[in-house]
Amino acid sequence: MIALIYLAAGVCFVLSLGGLSAPSSARRGNQLGVLGMALALAAAVVGLVLDGQVDTGSLGVAAVALVAGGAIGSVLASRVQMTSMPELVAVLHSFVGAGAVLVGLAGFLAHPVGDLDLARVVHLVECFLGVIIGSLTFTGSIVAFGKLKELIRSKALVFPFRHGVNLILLLATLALGGWFVATQAALPLYLALVLFGLLGVLLVMGIGGADMPVVVSMLNSYSGWAASATGFLLANDLLIIVGALVGSSGAILSYIMCKAMNRSFVSVILGGFGAEASGPDERAEALSAKGVNRAGPEDVAELLLGARSVVMVPGYGMAVAQAQHSVRELTELLQKKGTTVRFAIHPVAGRLPGHMNVLLAEANVPYPIVFEMDEINADMVDTDVVLVLGANDIVNPDALENPKSALAGMPVLEVWRAQTVVAIKRSLNPGFAGIDNPLYYKDNTLMLFGDARKMVESLVAAVKGGAHH
Ligand code: NDP
Repeated sequence: MIALIYLAAGVCFVLSLGGLSAPSSARRGNQLGVLGMALALAAAVVGLVLDGQVDTGSLGVAAVALVAGGAIGSVLASRVQMTSMPELVAVLHSFVGAGAVLVGLAGFLAHPVGDLDLARVVHLVECFLGVIIGSLTFTGSIVAFGKLKELIRSKALVFPFRHGVNLILLLATLALGGWFVATQAALPLYLALVLFGLLGVLLVMGIGGADMPVVVSMLNSYSGWAASATGFLLANDLLIIVGALVGSSGAILSYIMCKAMNRSFVSVILGGFGAEASGPDERAEALSAKGVNRAGPEDVAELLLGARSVVMVPGYGMAVAQAQHSVRELTELLQKKGTTVRFAIHPVAGRLPGHMNVLLAEANVPYPIVFEMDEINADMVDTDVVLVLGANDIVNPDALENPKSALAGMPVLEVWRAQTVVAIKRSLNPGFAGIDNPLYYKDNTLMLFGDARKMVESLVAAVKGGAHH
């Protein structure tokens, strides 16, 4: 019975992942995930009771823990701003890591000695893997959280021989693994816990600014493998399945993001991106001397009214300003006047994969007018006006034109190929990657300075009033 319920929960999780792959089915996917988790929890508790592994007293403790943890989780999740979602995800990964460490330690300490037969060796290896992968996931996630929250500077920490240091940590840990399995002593296990935790810190510290999304999804993957290791240790099939699902989907997502940013997987894992010490930037100075073209909401409204085709490029600033509802209103107004309006979504726009899709869906922007970068980039040349809504790095021409740029090689939305680009942001300050954007200085770019929501609201008003007419 328990095995069957586990299987049903596993199917729910697979269907949940399937549902999450499109915005229109994401809600159902989430509901299936919740159902799967409820089944899994119920089956786990009932299974433990039937096995006689827990008495009613410890069941009470488990119930209190469940209710308390569930309550904290629901409050946190319902309060968190969309823009801080990656931080929350990073913290949750750290819990998975910590859980794997604790289960691994407990698995060993419950039976610290035994005959060294094959089953015992397998058990020791499982404990060891759970502890080290968990430790790396825990410390790596905490550092990722600090970087995303800007408690730690987001620039990559690079020092001489850091790859060598990382390699030594890895080899030393493997050696400790051998020592642990051979002697069944606790000391090498504790040492490995510390060393791999340190490796987690160094690995994530070494990864700079714009690679963070990949890191978060990679930690997601690690947390899945940690859960899987725990599943082997506890002989829990469901945990093995779910861990493998999370581990592999996280790895696939990391791979997709690496491709979207034109970075090799290996170079992201080894870190160091965004770390080049740069001298005084002459190009930036030359650019700022050139100045930008400023525009007011009325001018931009006029431009929009004259356009046949408009592309909206949402970015992090739209999320911060919560401008998505006004953006939808502007879209509808223009559509009523016969203008073609489409949205162009960069794979790493905002602060988490799918960030923009979620915001647009929340504001009821119809899915068929929302396009991925690859679907729409070729159409930029035929576009009259591109409205850049608080996006910066994802529309930086330097990614293609300047091999020295920290973004070099990252595919971007080629908005500058449109007839006119209007960039809405509050200042000329850089975005997440911390670098200048030559887009703002181009002849066909107009800057509409201000808060994205206020500016789009002014545009709505001006378009309604027919601008200067
Ligand atoms: P950026 O961070 O490059 O730029 C956002 C811009 O929004 C800023 O330049 C800022 O300019 C502007 N802004 C901020 N607040 C407002 C506001 N209230 N009104 C108007 N504008 C505002 O964002 P992008 O979306 O272009 O690029 C995403 C970046 O984040 C990439 O570098 C990506 O690698 C990184 N990242 C992505 C993740 C993901 O998974 N999607 C996760 C983690 C990082 P100003 O201050 O002048 O207003």
